Amino acid sequence: MRKQIAAANWKMNKTLQEGQQLLHDIVSKMPSLTNGQHVIFALPYPYLGILKSKVPVQSGQLAAQNCHHASSGAYTGEVSVSMLKSLEIPYCIVGHSERREYFHETNAQLAVKVNLCLSVGITPIFCCGEPLSIREANNQNSYVGTQLDESLFHLDAAAIQHVVIAYEPIWAIGTGKTASSEQAQEMHAFIRSAIANKYSAEIANGISILYGGSVKGSNAGELFAQPDVDGGLVGGASLVPEDFLQIIAALKKES
Ligand code: PEP
Repeated sequence: MRKQIAAANWKMNKTLQEGQQLLHDIVSKMPSLTNGQHVIFALPYPYLGILKSKVPVQSGQLAAQNCHHASSGAYTGEVSVSMLKSLEIPYCIVGHSERREYFHETNAQLAVKVNLCLSVGITPIFCCGEPLSIREANNQNSYVGTQLDESLFHLDAAAIQHVVIAYEPIWAIGTGKTASSEQAQEMHAFIRSAIANKYSAEIANGISILYGGSVKGSNAGELFAQPDVDGGLVGGASLVPEDFLQIIAALKKES
């Protein structure tokens, strides 16, 4: 079974004390994860080192929400992949639509970030997804295809297997408007077929593709039941323990 992942993206929310409480409320009630199920907490940078000990390995792992596209240097306020590696952070979100929109991150820059993550052994959680205008024009496949081409498909067959992909239609992020499970499945299948065409079916079958966009406790079961949906990248609902626990419980189990 591919890795089934519930990833919490806290974005710029919670003080340290609130975050500590939130982690406690989730971790203390979390069902034991079965083989292949993973929970990831993408915390704000300052909390990564401090809160690591609050997440027992059997309950989850940490992710950064971003990294810089240079390996080191005079970039005041930025954080490099080797800094994250030195904190033993195993995952990093790359190319979240909020970073693309507010910080003008380009596909080419994201390709560099993906390379940097992989170069230090951090798994990038690469986000892709179309804005509403593209969906309305029914051009979502070519839009997402270009994101994959320009940011991921330069990788060789060995490297691509260390990437997690998150499909996040921008019109569904933080809007309460979720893609239907059919829309999610259709795009996940398209992404998997693009990987199969570029690499191989075997490689495509091994890569986890998460859905993101207003995932909640109430809709996670239907979304995650889709054959090509391997869990979710969750914003708002990851800040509500009951909701996130329901989302974790909706992950596929090894049969
Ligand atoms: C996200 O932050 O990646 C996200 C999908 O947010 P939300 O779940 O709030 O839509």
